[in-house]
Amino acid sequence: MAKQGAISYCEYVSILDKNNIHKIYHDNEYGFPIQDDNELFGRLILEINQAGLSWETILKKQSNFRVAFSKFDIKKIAKYDDIEINRLLSDRSIIRNKLKIRSIIFNAKQVISIQRKFGSLQNWLNNNKTKTIDEWIALFKITFKFTGREITKEFLLSTGLLKGAHTENCPINNKIQKIILPTDINSLFFLSNI
Ligand SMILES: [Zn+2]
Repeated sequence: MAKQGAISYCEYVSILDKNNIHKIYHDNEYGFPIQDDNELFGRLILEINQAGLSWETILKKQSNFRVAFSKFDIKKIAKYDDIEINRLLSDRSIIRNKLKIRSIIFNAKQVISIQRKFGSLQNWLNNNKTKTIDEWIALFKITFKFTGREITKEFLLSTGLLKGAHTENCPINNKIQKIILPTDINSLFFLSNI
């Protein structure tokens, strides 16, 4: 998503109308940290579905995915059976790809075990925040399905876990830098008590 041809995504959206779906996504979602596990998983669902398609296709179907995948409720998705898979495969409002759907269900189950071990998906991701991109890719490869290099990288960029979603001089980059997360407050508290 960082590049649209020769120009950056930031440059690309800078001339777009404020109601353009790319502009809305860039200004309000792309690179912004996500606190909620279901929403984090929802972003992964979108990134997996993008494989082989344009991001624009996914953005246009964003709300359809939310409805089709139980508002991105990880617990519900982890329990999807063949009836649910068939429901999704006949849902024309989303991307009907069996491999993607099965991978998402597998990944939901993996997230449930991550939540049991680490408290939350967000904790687990934050614990790995210092990893290099190659280490992240290796970690995603052994943990999830359908998460190759591009999908992993885009998921991390789009959720602010990896720096570089926006160009240095993009106004949204500034806005994101100013966001203080509860996890940051915890580490500040920790530092002040050393
Ligand atoms: Zn930007």
